Amino acid sequence: MTMKGITFTAFPGGKRKALTFSFDDGTLEDRRLTAIFNKNGLKGTFNLNSAVFGNKMKYREVYRLKEDEIAEVYKGHEIACHGDNHTTLSFLGDQSTVTSVIKDREALERICGYPVRGMAYPSTDHRPFQKEILRACGIEYCRNTTSTMRFSYPADPFDWEPTCHYTEAMPLAERFVCEPRPGKLFYIWGHSFEIEERNDWDCVEKLCSLLGGRSDVWYATNIEIIDYLNALSSLKATVDEKIIYNPTAYELWFGLGGEVVSLKSGETLRV
Ligand SMILES: [Zn+2]
Repeated sequence: MTMKGITFTAFPGGKRKALTFSFDDGTLEDRRLTAIFNKNGLKGTFNLNSAVFGNKMKYREVYRLKEDEIAEVYKGHEIACHGDNHTTLSFLGDQSTVTSVIKDREALERICGYPVRGMAYPSTDHRPFQKEILRACGIEYCRNTTSTMRFSYPADPFDWEPTCHYTEAMPLAERFVCEPRPGKLFYIWGHSFEIEERNDWDCVEKLCSLLGGRSDVWYATNIEIIDYLNALSSLKATVDEKIIYNPTAYELWFGLGGEVVSLKSGETLRV
């Protein structure tokens, strides 16, 4: 959104901050992690490899969830692609990139019953042209693993850089909950099997309980954030920016001066 009068992004319900999580590979430990998220009212995105459900991971004693558990474990969260068998995209040509993503989408959509539009890069490496292939396959964002250590928005949704890995999150979480400035987005990623391997469950419980249950935070999946930011960027304004129109299906919230204002779907605001 690039209007002079709009001073900051606010989130659904007029909330001033947003929090999202992203965890990869769909292993058994996701059962415990989603239970912790649910207890604290947190929302996350889970990036799954549908061709290897139920399998042991290659280099560790870690097992993936079986297909018949997926819908139940991730209920209320977003299911997203991670390549059907976790092949690093930079190893794949055009056609194999397409099949890896489309097969994953099809299999995941059969399970979850909604359009699967999110993704995390399997093993991170990819080539720039592959972003266009992802877009053509119906993907709308793809996360990488570069920590920004900032509460910022995705500069490029097809190289969405998270704030940090979960092991780096506690000091940032303490800052986030006290942060007086509006419009901040906190994005934490990881693998739940790392929590088990590092014996970090107590830390994760503390982190989630610190971040959960806050009236000024919007708890959202990755795709909910993308959809909301896309809707915000669709606001229309007159040349003098004194009349703002919301053509989207969303109620939108933003800062005008120091105040949070809302504009319902189809409404026009005179500033
Ligand atoms: Zn992975």
